Amino acid sequence: MGRVYNFSAGPAVLPEEVLREAADEMLDYRGSGMSVMEMSHRSKVFDEIIKDAEKDLRDLLNIPDNYKVLFLQGGASTTFAMVPMNLMKNRVADYIITGQWAKKAYEEACKYGKANIVASSADKTFSYIPDCSDLPISEDADYVYICENNTIYGTKFKKLPNTKGKILVSDVSSCFLSEPMNISDYGMVYGGVQKNIGPAGVVIAIIREDLITDDVLEGTPTMLKFKTQADAGSLYNTPPCYGIYICGKVFKWLKKMGGLEEMKKRNEEKAKILYDFLDSSELFKGTVAKEDRSLMNVPFVTGDKDLDAKFVAEAKAAGLENLKGHRSVGGMRASIYNAMPKEGVEKLVEFMKEFEKNNK
Ligand SMILES: *Cc1c(COP(=O)(O)O)cnc(C)c1O
Repeated sequence: MGRVYNFSAGPAVLPEEVLREAADEMLDYRGSGMSVMEMSHRSKVFDEIIKDAEKDLRDLLNIPDNYKVLFLQGGASTTFAMVPMNLMKNRVADYIITGQWAKKAYEEACKYGKANIVASSADKTFSYIPDCSDLPISEDADYVYICENNTIYGTKFKKLPNTKGKILVSDVSSCFLSEPMNISDYGMVYGGVQKNIGPAGVVIAIIREDLITDDVLEGTPTMLKFKTQADAGSLYNTPPCYGIYICGKVFKWLKKMGGLEEMKKRNEEKAKILYDFLDSSELFKGTVAKEDRSLMNVPFVTGDKDLDAKFVAEAKAAGLENLKGHRSVGGMRASIYNAMPKEGVEKLVEFMKEFEKNNK
């Protein structure tokens, strides 16, 4: 059995090199006589793993010293609640709704205060990013919230919103480490790692230090308070040790590949192969406004449900897996994260050409 080209939106493809290394170290991590899965999170060995992971992440993203890096649990969906619990001091926040994940974060915030929708692309099934250059930002808003890359719909903010001086909180789950970003533009950046970094079970949050305080909403659980996690170096309780270890390996792999500038170049190259084909095809169509296209998630349709289903089934038989679109959009979606090799995208386009010829 060989490995397939896995276009899943998440959990998603990981670098083969990383998986092989992890396999080599499975029974005996570097002479410790045990697997990383079996060791104490208070051990010296694990301390090195988590510290190294943080250091490499800081190098990759050029994270300024006044930002903390937290390794959290509960998925991005738990962070939807942590954000208002920790940051909604005035109990007001502005949300930009560009898809289901932003909407879910907004609905969570509504439980804790007044969350306002200041822009939305719901009118056209989230197929574009609204103009955010002059939004009606609330005067007393504690933060402005975006989902930077919309995993389901395949759009990405190419320009950050003008928050009129308010801090920006961004869910980057599906574009984390796909290209460089300027952390200083944000108050907080976070993402579940299972899209572009590692195994499910870890959320990485990068938060400006002055936003990490004891002044949180009443009733905020200890575990969901940024300060608890920051003060304990993400070791307040048992962290997802094995997941953090794999993330650390992926950070090292990214550094070896040439860092995020290089990943951006590669990701642009890969996406161009697929988008160029979609633009020239008579059968397949991209579903997203061209200027807002994501480099990571590429949805497309034939316009015929039965033909879409046939495509997904035949692609699977050809070793191109998980191309079915999200249940809310239908059609197809190819997620082409960092670890998807260019050959995978080339194979997909070859297959699409062949399918088009046979189904005219
Ligand atoms: C997948 C995803 C989520 C949800 O992540 P969980 O870790 O499953 O809670 C949130 N936001 C974005 C952008 C996602 O892609």
